[in-house]
Amino acid sequence: MKAKIVINGYGTIGKRVADAVSVQDDMEIVGVVKKSPDYGALLAEKKGYPLYAPDEEALKVFEEAGIKVKGTLNDVLSHANVVIDSTPGGVGKKNKLIYDKYSGLKQIYQGGEKPDVAEKSFSTLCNYEEALGADSLRVVSCNTTGLLRLLCTLRKIAPIEQVRAVMIRRAADPREIKKGPINSIVLNPVKLPSHHARDVNSVVPDINIVTAAVVVPTTLMHVHQVTVRFREKTTLEKIIEVLSSAPRIMLVDTGRTGIKSTAQLIEAARDMRPRNDIPELVVFRDSIALLNGNELMLFQAVHQESIVVPENVDAVRAVMKLAKTAEETVEKTDKSLGLRREFFY
Ligand code: NAD
Repeated sequence: MKAKIVINGYGTIGKRVADAVSVQDDMEIVGVVKKSPDYGALLAEKKGYPLYAPDEEALKVFEEAGIKVKGTLNDVLSHANVVIDSTPGGVGKKNKLIYDKYSGLKQIYQGGEKPDVAEKSFSTLCNYEEALGADSLRVVSCNTTGLLRLLCTLRKIAPIEQVRAVMIRRAADPREIKKGPINSIVLNPVKLPSHHARDVNSVVPDINIVTAAVVVPTTLMHVHQVTVRFREKTTLEKIIEVLSSAPRIMLVDTGRTGIKSTAQLIEAARDMRPRNDIPELVVFRDSIALLNGNELMLFQAVHQESIVVPENVDAVRAVMKLAKTAEETVEKTDKSLGLRREFFY
């Protein structure tokens, strides 16, 4: 029997997670909960997702707008196995009071929530097995997912002594018309370090990491400059071999493709991908440098709108125990969503 999934919040993340869940063979969408009767509601309806309103009041607004909904959040939760909350940061915590009334309902939250919203913070390549059977999980944010995919892969080379990383963050998602900055680089936060390191430690507590972040006027992707010091010496060849054979990491070869910017990455994705999504973590292969045999520096890029989508699918498998290992779920998820290790081969 397929796991019955409700997506509560159908914005940037919710609509992508809904599409990803709908192509899995072990789970199905039983409801999408939309707050307002706008274009997104029409899209959900067109895709054939059963549409629900958060409450009776919103249901009336939908009826007045002439959009048919099947009922309210409470109606759909009563026959669901898992709710994936993809409402804006902080709303999930309030929704938890509703979810907790349904015994046996598993809860998955996003990175905009504080870690205490769920039993565990989650990132597949780091702690899938520890999350098996959990009642609730928080899929960490896009920046943290990018850092964790890299660090949990690099840990296979040698123990990590220290990580220092600078996040150059996109200001808003492409569809967000009211957010800035439009002509500035904003220290975010001014007081260092930034919260991203703490968030990495919410999944892997023993990594010695400090992060800083600025926000820049772009909507396409985030870029990170990461420096990792290993406890042992290694080689550039070994690092490239491990990164190029790791799941969910795409090495982009600037020499071969000319790609050295987020604009070119998104253009390549526009040419090849639905919604120009890049759920892989992109590591710029030619940026990888090894200093003194143990200090690695590189640039990586994170497509904020889609990087957490595979992890949400895996989180369902973890709470429902649909796959025993990270390898098993990664194989299924990545095949169904078409993740690759290289854009061109
Ligand atoms: P969004 O604003 O694009 O979408 C949220 C949707 O939830 C909107 O459609 C909104 O109308 C709806 N909503 C608000 N209150 C609701 C309620 N009570 N019931 C039902 N729906 C409600 O936000 P998003 O970017 O998709 O972010 C969702 C979560 O994912 C946040 O925790 C965010 O931090 C996290 N996240 C976002 C990104 C990103 O870059 N967009 C990346 C990773 C994680």
